[in-house]
Amino acid sequence: MNVLPLETTLTYGPLFSRRLGRSLGVNLLPFDRKACSFDCIYCHYGHTTVHTAMGRDLEIAATFPDMGNALRAIETALRRYPHVDALTFSGNGEPTLHPHFPAIVAETRRLRDAIAPNVKLALFSNATTAHLPHIQESLNDFDLPILKLDAGDPATLAQINRPAPGVTLDTILEGLKATRNLVVQSVLIDGVVSNIKGEAFEAWVTALDAIRPAAVQIYSTDYPVPDVGVERVPPYILKRIARKVTERTGVRVEAFWY
Ligand code: SF4
Repeated sequence: MNVLPLETTLTYGPLFSRRLGRSLGVNLLPFDRKACSFDCIYCHYGHTTVHTAMGRDLEIAATFPDMGNALRAIETALRRYPHVDALTFSGNGEPTLHPHFPAIVAETRRLRDAIAPNVKLALFSNATTAHLPHIQESLNDFDLPILKLDAGDPATLAQINRPAPGVTLDTILEGLKATRNLVVQSVLIDGVVSNIKGEAFEAWVTALDAIRPAAVQIYSTDYPVPDVGVERVPPYILKRIARKVTERTGVRVEAFWY
């Protein structure tokens, strides 16, 4: 099955999304390979080619875009589109792996404040680095830190997200619990692996209850995915799950679909 091509620019959009409105994307990842600390079975960019939680490794660091070029592209995009709703760090993999992520984010915030103060800074991250002190501090610069949690037990994490060596559920939960204004995003799937029923579902709900985020956004996948047997969860089930988890935890859960 075909998957989506990688982004080949530092910024892209604006794109419209129900969650963020009109959003400019920032891609700090390499353009020619997918670098991520996960290799999710539903990833619409296909299989991870640089599978690591260590973006600061010298060999890997050289493949990431230059910090000066990234900041120039971000400034140009903000000046061109000062009235978008959000500037969102996302792209071809895990943005926090960029070896200069904290410095880029701090300078981006300064640019945003000066050029387009109403634009919200958003981040999509898989939470695998959120426990690291330099990343945790950087998360405070975001208005909307949106961090992934698809599994509340190690076996389901291994099956759905296929983490890089060194990434554990415990460190992910530690990072999520420490993040202020946290929005958790969870991709729910069925089929060869499922996180919508049985022990996997119960463990995920228990983890959300322990994390106590400001909100949870759940959705499924509609894009082509690299692995066969991954089944989309239809909107009516997403809505039912959102209601059930809100009732059980008191956390606001919203269902989204494409
Ligand atoms: S964390 Fe995101 S980019 Fe990385 S493999 Fe999963 S879906 Fe793809």
